[in-house]
Amino acid sequence: MKTINILGATGSVGTSTLDLVEREPDRFRVRALTANCDVDRLAAAAIRTGAELAVVADATCLPALRDALAGTGTRAAGGRQAVCEAARGADWTMGAIVGCAGLGPVMAAIEDGGTVVLANKEPLVSAGEVILAAAARSGATLLPADSEHNAIFQCLEMAHPERVRRIILTASGGPFRDWSTDAMRAVTPAQAVAHPNWSMGAKISVDSATMMNKGLELIEAARLFPVPADRIEIVLHRQSVIHSMVDYVDGSMLAQLGPSDMRVPIAHTLAWPDRMTTPMEPLDLVRIGRLDFEEADPVRFPALRLAREALDAGGARPAILNAANEIAVAAFLANRIGFLEIAAIVADTLDRFDPPPPGTLEDVLDVDAEARRLAEDLIQGSGSRVEDCVV
Ligand code: NDP
Repeated sequence: MKTINILGATGSVGTSTLDLVEREPDRFRVRALTANCDVDRLAAAAIRTGAELAVVADATCLPALRDALAGTGTRAAGGRQAVCEAARGADWTMGAIVGCAGLGPVMAAIEDGGTVVLANKEPLVSAGEVILAAAARSGATLLPADSEHNAIFQCLEMAHPERVRRIILTASGGPFRDWSTDAMRAVTPAQAVAHPNWSMGAKISVDSATMMNKGLELIEAARLFPVPADRIEIVLHRQSVIHSMVDYVDGSMLAQLGPSDMRVPIAHTLAWPDRMTTPMEPLDLVRIGRLDFEEADPVRFPALRLAREALDAGGARPAILNAANEIAVAAFLANRIGFLEIAAIVADTLDRFDPPPPGTLEDVLDVDAEARRLAEDLIQGSGSRVEDCVV
């Protein structure tokens, strides 16, 4: 019996994880579930699974959670520290909080040892070195749930990186992959969150539309796999059937294929090193018929260039990129800035802020906070240089 924590249990990845866990009650026992403030969904999941603990990060939502769980066997808790405490004590912990808000809880899970599954890519982008050092200290096993990184994990001979010629990250290109820059100027939040292939939370859907998601994944791949960054490439693959590939020096290329459903990579991490059944239909290759590949376009999608530059420069640059992007995406979703301004705000924040490399978690948090403040100033002043970023 594996004990399970799900951080971000009410979100898209959290719900997919619960679906798999609930199908096998003899194999998995839920210890803790967390959310920000979606009390209804959190309490319902806690009651269904008989979770020991349910936690809301927003402490103002705790009274409602207590009411919802009154008379059940599930304890209720609230506040950011309580989320970190909930992250400990399980054999297997899913990190599926959105954004850098997941950093503290993921670090707590890693420091506790056990298996920590990372869907939540932003902490790895901002604090990759700190997270990997903590995992090395505690002996925690990190497994990637992001479909591309899970695909690479399945194809890569980790012990022999010298045998790898390239890692190829596939990208669907998002809903605007065929749009001109001019057409993208008027994109609305509703259009941006309507991904053609995947059903996901709002933030990652916007990241997919700007292709910042692929940029974050590039940095994530460089953190997770022992292959130099210049050997990690991005290829547009609009069908999202191949989730990524590893090209070996002898000319063999290994790919992982599967439906566009996060339950496949999550199931891989839940059962690893074993396998488990999932409710997904097998891929119908004849119906799919063809697989297309194209070059990704860093001119129409400047986020790709910004992420590559941040990765190459290292130090604080990825943390600044991520923090500015989180602020800009939230502003876009709130109709405060236009779609093209997201990458422009990120570029401007990177231009204005160049601190020394962060050495500790506190340093990363300081960089993150200052980059957020600068990005917010830029949004309030509407001073971003959109044209600089798109031409
Ligand atoms: P969602 O927006 O659907 O869910 C986010 C979860 O995080 C919710 O449970 C939410 O709680 C919780 N949350 C939000 N803010 C906070 C906070 N400040 N503190 C604590 N908890 C918080 O996101 P997704 O499931 O789409 O994505 C989660 C992560 O996984 C992201 O990092 C994303 O990039 C990554 N990912 C997602 C994929 C997908 O298919 N969705 C694929 C690959 C990676 P509440 O409901 O109460 O707001």
